[in-house]
Parts: sequence; C-alpha cells; structure tokens
Amino acid sequence: MNIFFDVDYTIMGADGSLRQNTAETFQRLVADGHRVFVWSGVGVRTAEVRRFGLADYVTKVFQKPLEDYEAALPGLGVLPRPDFVIDDYPEIVRVFGGFICKPYYFRNRKDTEMDEIYQTICDVVEGGGSEHRAYRPGRKRSEGGG
Ligand SMILES: [Mg+2]
Repeated sequence: MNIFFDVDYTIMGADGSLRQNTAETFQRLVADGHRVFVWSGVGVRTAEVRRFGLADYVTKVFQKPLEDYEAALPGLGVLPRPDFVIDDYPEIVRVFGGFICKPYYFRNRKDTEMDEIYQTICDVVEGGGSEHRAYRPGRKRSEGGG
C-alpha cells in the first residue's frame, strides 16, 4: 500500500521529538513491501524527515491538502493516491482510510501508537480491514467529493 504519515502530532511532538518507534515502523513497512510517504499541511517537511533519520524509508515528501482532500491532490502533485493515512486529524483519515492516531505532544516511553498502527496495517493487508477503534475504511475513489 501507499501509506501516508502526517508530521505534527502524528510522528513529531510539540517538543520537536520523534514519536517512539517511528523509524522502526517505517523500516518494517518498507520491508513488508509498502511505500511510505510523509506529508504535512504546513509544507514539504524534507528537513524533518532527514533530521529524524527517516529519509532512507520515505519514498517522497508532499504538502498535504487542508480541504477538498481528494480534489486537491493533483494540484499539490500528490501521486500516488494514498491507500492508508495516519493522522491526528480525523477528517482526512475518513476520506482516504487509515488510522486516527492519538495526538503526540511530548516524548512518552509508554506510547504504543506506532505498534498499533503497524498491526492495523497488517490486519488490513491480511483481512481487508481492522477491528481497531482508530481504523477507518475510507471512501471509495468513485464516491469522490471533498
Ligand atoms: Mg497533525
């Protein structure tokens, strides 16, 4: 799948730290044959991807649409279309499907969100869906709309 991660409060906290197990999760996803993308509503966050040592796992970094998510993709050069998005902002997850993560603000060794995200992706690959409370199936492409 083409898996898109948000930056602020998803992989990066308000304190500038990287969420626990982010790099390990990216590595596992790539090893499983997925493509990992990073996008942000603030802009193209290549500097953060490099600073956190994620560049080897990330196929491309994009700017994320803030509204009319589906229709805005071509104008932002976002290709391929996301198959699975991970974001602390629920609306974009409802459109594309994916995982609504708990917002990450500060370094926290008890945070298990990345492991839950990885497991949910494995569930979707194996069974076409997941029972996880944070999973959303998304709309089909033909349902269109913003
Ligand atoms: Mg965010």
